[in-house]
Amino acid sequence: MSKKRIYLSSPTMHGEEQKYVQEAFDTNWVAPLGPNVNALEKEMAAYTGCGYAAALSAGTAAIHLALKLLGVGQGDVVFVPDLTFSATCNPIVYEKGVPVFIDSEPDTWNMSPEALERAFEKYQTPKAVICVHLYGTPAKLDRIMEICARHNVPLIEDAAESLGSTYKGQHTGTLGKYGIYSFNGNKIITTSGGGMLVSKEEEAVKKATFLATQARDPARHYQHSQIGYNYRMSNVTAGIGRGQLLHLEEHKAKKKEIYGKYKDAFSDIEEITMNPLNPDGDANCWLSGMVIAENSEITPDIIMDALDAENIESRPVWKPMHLQPVFAQYDFIPHNEDGSSVGEDVFNRGLCLPSDVKNTDEDMELIIGIIRGCFGK
Ligand SMILES: *Cc1c(COP(=O)(O)O)cnc(C)c1O
Repeated sequence: MSKKRIYLSSPTMHGEEQKYVQEAFDTNWVAPLGPNVNALEKEMAAYTGCGYAAALSAGTAAIHLALKLLGVGQGDVVFVPDLTFSATCNPIVYEKGVPVFIDSEPDTWNMSPEALERAFEKYQTPKAVICVHLYGTPAKLDRIMEICARHNVPLIEDAAESLGSTYKGQHTGTLGKYGIYSFNGNKIITTSGGGMLVSKEEEAVKKATFLATQARDPARHYQHSQIGYNYRMSNVTAGIGRGQLLHLEEHKAKKKEIYGKYKDAFSDIEEITMNPLNPDGDANCWLSGMVIAENSEITPDIIMDALDAENIESRPVWKPMHLQPVFAQYDFIPHNEDGSSVGEDVFNRGLCLPSDVKNTDEDMELIIGIIRGCFGK
């Protein structure tokens, strides 16, 4: 008998999604734009307190447009986290900008303020800084924002993984000049695919919307004075998003519960440390992760293989950008004075555990039992 698959993080639908999608069909708003898109933007703005929002085809598109709004172009340096998904950095290269990879700090695994300071000594005039809230854990935003303000460089928050997470009571994605969210299938809520650019600046969000709809000038005939993109969200997918948003808090509670279960279950195993949370924030715990002690004989591969044998999905931690062949020519600023990389260490010793909203108590027991077994418990 084949075992049911347990997922890392798969879509969890509730039913309301279909109601909004049905509305789109009933009114023939199957086209891009329409009432669901406008409503999703308003509902997201109300939930996060972001100000204004533009619903887009992907989180990557949102990062691209944020860079366009800041005028990032040929040769412009952008500071970006080293330990992240490649989508954070690809749009810099679309614009022929130059990513400079900033190492993680060990407390949250996010952009190291120390390495960021050092990057500012080396490159005085970056065009932008992008920070990420990895696996839902907020970065050390106070320090990062203070450094950015002192150097007068705008901050983009890549909150693709941290929708629902707060930092000192404010939603991640709403503290920088621009924020971006993702509704990709593996994220905490999904539209099947999609993203959002948010900002307190209404004009900037209007400009992003304009660029996302082929940059059509306001004229009856088709007139363009800028290069545009086809980056808008469709009214059908926005319907899915509206239904999902009703369950975001519930997904967050469930993911926090999963994190807590792992933490408790491994508390007697000295070789295991869970991925860090930020005491200044409330993380959505999008993915639970663990690192194995340096002196352990157990490797992430051993655990991933053991889980895989039971049809349970797990994944390595993101591979740092400075180790990626495609980004080999770009600079990397380590956190440690001796030049060693925190992100690389996390990558070597860490893995992401099944964090699916649909995980049952039995699923959790099974996963925990397999991992404990790897450590002879
Ligand atoms: C998922 C993700 C993105 C990209 O979002 P898409 O909607 O898939 O384009 C960007 N940054 C990070 C950190 C992500 O995890």
